[in-house]
Amino acid sequence: MRFIADAMLGKLARWLRIIGYDTEYLPSAGDEELISAAEAGGRLLLTRDGELFRRAARRGVPALLIKSNTLIGELSEIARTLGLSISDQTRCPICNGLLVEASGDPGVPAKGMVWECPKCRKFYWHGTHWLKISETLEASGLR
Ligand SMILES: [Zn+2]
Repeated sequence: MRFIADAMLGKLARWLRIIGYDTEYLPSAGDEELISAAEAGGRLLLTRDGELFRRAARRGVPALLIKSNTLIGELSEIARTLGLSISDQTRCPICNGLLVEASGDPGVPAKGMVWECPKCRKFYWHGTHWLKISETLEASGLR
């Protein structure tokens, strides 16, 4: 399943990428542009805007109206409604690139496995923040 998130859901978009879902985020796009991008890319539109949601529905573009105002709430709405789970793959939260095992030198001491984004060249590893990520996902009902 692929997503496109509206301007209000940037944080959610980054988290969907972390758990492996291809998620487009175009914060400066207008409603029409978002609907067209969703249609062209076969993406489900995530929005907190009731009017945008209705416009998408009228065009036959699949959309989900997010009601929660917290990240955990947003993630659990999606997990519940769409039956999402955490994918084996991880995407770059910044640019949506699919992370691969790092071949270059991250330039910092990192323990364990290191990933690299082939698109923006950012490195990722399981640091102390990983525990927080796991806790948030657990609280959202995602596993
Ligand atoms: Zn990237």
